[in-house]
Amino acid sequence: MEITLVKTTTPKPKPDPAKLGFGRFFTDHMFVWDYNPEQGWHDPRIVPYGPLELDPASAVLHYGQAVFEGMKAYRGPQGEVLLFRPEQNMARLNRSNARMSIPQFDEEFALRAIKELVALEREWIPTAPGTALYIRPFIIATDNVLGVRPSATYRFMVILSPVGAYYEEGLNPVSIYVEPHYVRAVRGGTGFAKAAGNYAGSLLAQKNAVAKGHSQVLWLDGIERKYVEEVGAMNVFFNIGGQMVTPDLGDSILPGVTRDSILQLLRSWNVPTVERRLSVEEIFQAHAEGTLVEAFGCGTAAVVSPIGRLEYQGRLIEIGGGKIGELTQKLYDTLTGIQTGRLPDPFGWVVRVDV
Ligand SMILES: *Cc1c(COP(=O)(O)O)cnc(C)c1O
Repeated sequence: MEITLVKTTTPKPKPDPAKLGFGRFFTDHMFVWDYNPEQGWHDPRIVPYGPLELDPASAVLHYGQAVFEGMKAYRGPQGEVLLFRPEQNMARLNRSNARMSIPQFDEEFALRAIKELVALEREWIPTAPGTALYIRPFIIATDNVLGVRPSATYRFMVILSPVGAYYEEGLNPVSIYVEPHYVRAVRGGTGFAKAAGNYAGSLLAQKNAVAKGHSQVLWLDGIERKYVEEVGAMNVFFNIGGQMVTPDLGDSILPGVTRDSILQLLRSWNVPTVERRLSVEEIFQAHAEGTLVEAFGCGTAAVVSPIGRLEYQGRLIEIGGGKIGELTQKLYDTLTGIQTGRLPDPFGWVVRVDV
C-alpha cells in the first residue's frame, strides 16, 4: 500500500522549546487511514494537520468507541531519530481494538506510516534534555447511526506533538491520594485496553485528589478495593525491603511498555522483582516496619514519577524522606539513556527512523 502525501503550504512556526509543556503544540502534518467493510483499511495518507469534519451522529461522539496509543521519538547524539519499542505499541493497539470491536490493522504497515510521518516532521523533534516528539496514534468509530452496535467504518489517525521535559526542576516526589471509592477498571472490563472512555471515567477522582492537595490517584481493585492497581495513568512499583513489587497484570491493568522494560532492567541488575497482588494495608504495614524504601509510577510520558507521600483513609505516610529513591533514579537515567541513544541498548529496544 502506498502512502500518499499532501504537503502543507502554510508551515507553522516552531514553538519556543522552553515553553512546550505536554501535548499543546502539533506539527504540520498528520496520518489518516480509513476503514470500511468493502475495502478494509484503505487510502493511507499524510496530509496537512487540521480539523476533522465529522457528522454529529458519528458513533465515537456518542458511545466512545475509540482507542489510542502514546509513544515518543527522540533525537540521538548524532541527530538520529529514535523510537522506543514501537512494535509493542502497535501490538497493544490491536489488542485494544479487539476489546473494543474495532477491526485489526497491519501493525508493520502502521509502523511504517508512523516512521514516514516522523521523518517528514523531523525538524519538530526538540533536542533539549528530557524533551521528545510525542506520537499519538488513535482510532475512532465513524458510522453515522445512533444504534448501539459496533461501527462499520473507522478512521485511524496519527498526530505528533513536541513535548517539554516532564520534570522541569528534576524528579520531585509527588503526593498521591489512595482512592477509596471510585475505581478505574473492573475485572472483565476494559482496563487493559487504551480505550478512550477509561480516561473519562477517571477524571472525577483525579479532580477530587487535586482538590485535596495531591497530584494523582492510586487506584485500587474493583472488587474489594484493597489491592493496588495503578497510579493515575501509570503502572506502579514499590521497593519493599529491597524487593521490587508491582501488581501482576490482569484485565484491569494496562500492560505498560515502560513497566515491562523496567522489569527487564531490574532482572538484568539482579534486583529481586515480583509481580503479585499487593494490598494497600501491606504498603502501610511495610512503612510502619521501616521496609518501604521507595515507590514510583511509570509510563511513556513521565518515564518514572517518584511517589513521596500516600494518603489513605485519613492516614498519611511519607516515602523516602521527600527524595527520589536510588533505584528510581537509576531506572530513569538508564531508560532515558537508552531511549535517546546515549547508553548502549543491550535489549535491542531502540528503532532508528531513516531520515
Ligand atoms: C498508557 C498507560 C500506562 C503506561 O503505558 P506505557 O506503555 O508505559 O506508556 C499505564 N497505565 C495506563 C492506565 C495507561 O493508559
